Amino acid sequence: MIIRINGNIKKYYVETLAMMFFPGVRFPENESDNTDGLICTVVSERGDDNTLTSSVELVSGERKETGLSRVSLDEYDSETAEKIAAGDSFLKAGEKLTGIRPPWGILTGVRPAKIATELLEKGYDVKEAADAISRTYLTLGPKAELASKVALAERKLITDQTREECSVYIGIPFCPTRCAYCSFVSYTSKKLLSLIPEYLEVLCSDIADLFKLIGDLGKNVASIYIGGGTPTVLDPHQLEKLLSRISLSAKSSGVCENIREFTMEAGRPDTITGEKLKIASEYGVSRISVNPQTLNDDVLKIIGRAHSVDDFYRAYETASKSGINDINIDLIAGLPGDSEESFRNTVDSVVSLAPTNITVHTFSVKKSSVFRMEERYDALSPLAGKCIEYSQQKLQCSGYEPYYMYRQKNTVGNHENVGYSIPGHEGLYNVYMMEEVHSIFSAGASSVTKFVSLPDEEGNVRIERFFQPKYPYEYLEEHKETGSRTEKLRKEALAFFS
Ligand code: SF4
Repeated sequence: MIIRINGNIKKYYVETLAMMFFPGVRFPENESDNTDGLICTVVSERGDDNTLTSSVELVSGERKETGLSRVSLDEYDSETAEKIAAGDSFLKAGEKLTGIRPPWGILTGVRPAKIATELLEKGYDVKEAADAISRTYLTLGPKAELASKVALAERKLITDQTREECSVYIGIPFCPTRCAYCSFVSYTSKKLLSLIPEYLEVLCSDIADLFKLIGDLGKNVASIYIGGGTPTVLDPHQLEKLLSRISLSAKSSGVCENIREFTMEAGRPDTITGEKLKIASEYGVSRISVNPQTLNDDVLKIIGRAHSVDDFYRAYETASKSGINDINIDLIAGLPGDSEESFRNTVDSVVSLAPTNITVHTFSVKKSSVFRMEERYDALSPLAGKCIEYSQQKLQCSGYEPYYMYRQKNTVGNHENVGYSIPGHEGLYNVYMMEEVHSIFSAGASSVTKFVSLPDEEGNVRIERFFQPKYPYEYLEEHKETGSRTEKLRKEALAFFS
């Protein structure tokens, strides 16, 4: 797509709007490189009556559609007015051209609940906050209401104490096989999986450094999250080694006296055994995730998950007998090969198991996944929207409440990912991490440590991120050559928190 702008609107913003209607669209600099025949022209100008008018013309081959919008500059600052006017006119032209109405309107950020939180803090109630979001961002009512409900749930979980605390993330970027939709850096081949013992050695020393650093900073740990990949790809002996290192480091640093949650994202049902979960339970794991994504064997095959629906039921039964308090089940709406009926059946079956947490993601296709490369999916399919709508109704009628939410690029139909829980069983780490409530100290390849300051008088926080090497191999090499990156963080941490 070629974008032509006459006015103050940023090109990046117009590109973000375009991606909602034309997923995967590219934006070449030279018109001669424009292969898809798409041209977007945005013109905005101020009127004498203190208004800003924006028009968008979208051309796709032979077709041309336009949208027009006028916004009062008495109501918004000029940057916001530019965005609303250009966004509204783009939505109008885009809808005429494609028949699509993006459900979040011009709200393009990852964390829609943050906007709702700001409104609740100003004294709006849930309905008023939802109305304001709909008005300003042209978000459809149910989405705006969802963002406000999530913000309300989060407010109950975030206190002054949680802002003083921190959380710990430990990454196991290995999986037994690769799912067809995955673009994560996880190692899956036999040769790469053979690096696990060496990786664990280095990870354990990194974990010791991490807890020592947290102790030296005088922080308390509110939650620990072992994520993947697939943490239960570790055999029982390896898992015990990892968990005993965490336990030992937590004890010797004294930072986990008030810990409220210890999650191990077990993940793939084909890796879950009673022996592994018994070990996890003995070391204090309080929350695990068993993730079928769908309860349709045909869809599981299409998305390249190396397990069956029966494997999931076996894994779930093992988890429910393990003594681990909270079980989350991850589902994905809008999967290739799935249907509305099959997704409804998946949701109904999962609800009948009564886990304390259910997370519903929208199918998202990353550039490097098999689906994107082979163009085996319909990014504009209405299926995801119908599935998401059903899950929201069914889960809320069954006693679950939405408590955290985020959006990703390239989701089918521009929908969101939502964590639901039985009240009182919310996944705390999810909220702390997503809403940047406090610092997350991380160990392991491709993990990110995030320093978050206490809020200033206006409620703003300072954030700094420190990345570990992306691939396990790089992580091991760096450790061999120059030692632990966590230990090198010490200087930055002391400066940041002083
Ligand atoms: S289990 Fe998750 S991280 Fe592993 S290959 Fe599948 S989608 Fe990727």
